[in-house]
Amino acid sequence: MKLHETRRILVTGGAGFLGSHLCDRLVAEGHEVLCLDNFFTGTRRNIAHLLAKPNFELIRHDLAQPVFLEVDEIYNLACPASPVHYQYNPVKTIKTNIMGAIHMLGLAKRVKAKILQASTSEVYGNPVIHPQTESYWGNVNPIGIRSCYDEGKRCAETLFFDYYRQNNVNIRVIRIFNTYGPRMHPNDGRVVSNFIVQALSNQDITVFGEGAQTRSFCYVDDLIEGMIRMMNGPDSFIGPVNLGNPGEFTILELAEKVIRQTGARSKIVFKPLPQDDPLQRKPDITLAAENLGWAPTVNLEEGLERTISYFKTLINTGGKNV
Ligand code: NAD
Ligand code: UDP
Repeated sequence: MKLHETRRILVTGGAGFLGSHLCDRLVAEGHEVLCLDNFFTGTRRNIAHLLAKPNFELIRHDLAQPVFLEVDEIYNLACPASPVHYQYNPVKTIKTNIMGAIHMLGLAKRVKAKILQASTSEVYGNPVIHPQTESYWGNVNPIGIRSCYDEGKRCAETLFFDYYRQNNVNIRVIRIFNTYGPRMHPNDGRVVSNFIVQALSNQDITVFGEGAQTRSFCYVDDLIEGMIRMMNGPDSFIGPVNLGNPGEFTILELAEKVIRQTGARSKIVFKPLPQDDPLQRKPDITLAAENLGWAPTVNLEEGLERTISYFKTLINTGGKNV
C-alpha cells in the first residue's frame, strides 16, 4: 500500500473478538491503528501480537466517557455482544451503546472522520419476516432482558442517521448476524463457543429449549471482509446492510455437528429457553451482494474446524499460545 493511502483508524472494542481480527487486517494493510477498549469482555491476549508493531496503539478507555483523538476513520464496535455479558450490567450496556455512539459521532463530526457502526440482527428482534431484509423494521420487546442490547443498538442506528441528516457525518451501518471464530471468549456464553468448549472437555452440551430455534453462522474472516468493503464502499451506500451467512441451522443441528467434528463423548442436555430468545434468524444478503460484491466463502463445517482448533490450543496451553 502506498504511503498516501494509509489512514489513522480508530477501532473501538478493538481487543474483543471481532475488533482484534479487524485490527489485524488494518495493521497488515499498513494503516495507523488506534485500538480503544475497556477490557470488559476483550483481552490483551487478543491483541498481544500487535503491541510491538509501530503502527498499532492501545488505549484503555471506557467509551461511556468522551475521548478526544484525531482520526480519519472510526469502526465503532465497543459493546459486549453475548447475552450473558450484555445482561450482566444492562444499564451499562445501554450507556455504552448510546453514550458511545454520541461520543464517536461527535468525534467524527469534529474531525470529519468516516464512521462505521457495528449494529446487529438483534434490531429485528423475534422476526416475523424470514429471511430478514433491511427494510423490515423488526419485532422487538422494549422492556425485556434483551432490550438493553436490542434497543441500545436500535437507538444507536437512529443517532447515526440523525448525525448523517443533521450534520453530514459520513456514516456506514452494518447489521451483523451471528459471527463466530477464533478469539471468541471461552466463557462468554455464545452458542458456538459454549458448545465447542463443552465438547472439548467432554461435558454435556447445553441446548436451550428444544433446540428448534435457528441461527445463521458467519465465519469471522468473511465478516471482516464485508465490514472493510462497507467502510471503503461508495458514500452513496451507507446502509444499513446485513452481513452474515445465509446458511440456516437449528441449534440442535449445531450441537450434533460440534459433537461429530470434535469426536466428543458429550451428551446433549436440554435447558430452559431464555426469555425473548428469537425463534429464527437468517439474513437476506442481496443488498451486500449487489452493492459490495460480498458473499461469505467459509461454510459452517470449515469454520467450525478452524474454531475447534483454536479452542483446543487455548485449552491445552492455558491461553498462552494462541
Ligand atoms: P466482544 O464482547 O468480544 O467485543 C466487544 C469489545 O468491546 C470488547 O473488547 C469489550 O471489552 C469492549 N467494550 C465493551 N464495553 C466497552 C466500553 N464501555 N468502552 C470500551 N470498550 C468496551 O464482542 P464481538 O463479538 O467482538 O462484538 C463486537 C461488536 O459487534 C459489538 O458491538 C457487537 O454488538 C457487534 N455484533 C457482534 C456479533 C457477533 O456475532 N459477534 C453480532 C452482532 C453484532
Ligand atoms: N444457546 C443454547 N445453548 C447455549 C448457548 C446458547 O442453546 O449454551 C442458544 C440460545 O438460546 C440461542 C442460540 O443458541 O437460541 C444463539 O445464542 P447466542 O447467545 O449465541 O446468540 P443470540 O441469541 O444473540 O443469537
